[in-house]
Amino acid sequence: MQKGLTYDDVLLVPQYSDIESRSEVSLATDFSRGVELGLPIIASPMDTVSEADMAGSLGELGGLSIIHRYNSIEEQSAMIASLGENTLVGAAVGVSGDFADRATSAVAAGAKVICIDVAHGHHILMKKAIEKIREVLPNIHIMAGNVATLEGFNDLADWGADSIRCNIGGGSICTTRVQTGHGVPGLETILQCAKSDRNAKIIADGGIKNSGDIVKALAAGADAVMLGSLLAGTDCSPGTIFKTESGELRKTYRGMASAAAQKDWRGRVASCEGVSSSVPYRGKLADVVKELERGIRSGLSYSGARSVKELQAKSQWLQQSNASTTESSAHIRLR
Ligand code: IMP
Repeated sequence: MQKGLTYDDVLLVPQYSDIESRSEVSLATDFSRGVELGLPIIASPMDTVSEADMAGSLGELGGLSIIHRYNSIEEQSAMIASLGENTLVGAAVGVSGDFADRATSAVAAGAKVICIDVAHGHHILMKKAIEKIREVLPNIHIMAGNVATLEGFNDLADWGADSIRCNIGGGSICTTRVQTGHGVPGLETILQCAKSDRNAKIIADGGIKNSGDIVKALAAGADAVMLGSLLAGTDCSPGTIFKTESGELRKTYRGMASAAAQKDWRGRVASCEGVSSSVPYRGKLADVVKELERGIRSGLSYSGARSVKELQAKSQWLQQSNASTTESSAHIRLR
């Protein structure tokens, strides 16, 4: 039986480094079809993560936001347009109904990426949707997903996807594996998809808890990471800040297949594969993203790598024991 490892199961082995300053490290990525990322961070197409504020602010920091699709075509296009021409922003669409009209309207409003956003992307409806988007928007960058296998990755690439969201069931608000018994550990998915000889970009999506996980995802072969919970608690995510009884400030964060989200966007609950929860309020997006960026740059420096490609070539892995996993985070004993 195949074994699967994920982020907390492994460590990157530190290596000789001649990098004297973290500023020598480049995190820029050519994401193809004219899409350049200054920072390999993409905000998830979720209604508690990516709307106009996230797109504008993350775009200024070098990242990309995918505006979610749980709204009318007009609302989504207005969010895209309110950013301005130079902001790098993408739009999510589904695989049925008016998805081609939604994509056309989003691109007219300024979207540089169309993300065909479904839970199980290795599917005939995905193939048809990619073909349709390619027909109506021949030059647009198509992001597609999600997939959990190399076979799925290769098929979506062959169908025409330029970048592919990899990971099924690993998101912090996800219950897909419990509900359906299906999934592949997040890091294992990246390691498998990185074996592909296709040119499509790899997006490590879901289950990323800190900058160390981002470094591991990039080292395993990802070109960028997609983040939900890490960005949901910032000043740029949709929704209001609320105070708990103990005085803690928090923001709502929910899976788009949670019962609460489904009731809001389709008025009924079909298969429920996510939960609705909340995350601590973390303050300004710029502070959160800059802190992640410092961690990523430092991570590349520990591997002696000046770029993500160099990190991927140099990375050496070890699998850690349970005791090592405990040792790997703060574990001071007060008594
Ligand atoms: P996080 O960064 O671990 O919070 O995961 C975010 C990712 O979870 C998203 O980019 C989606 O791929 C995935 N996701 C979003 N909503 C749901 C859901 O309701 N069920 C399962 N996965 C979800």
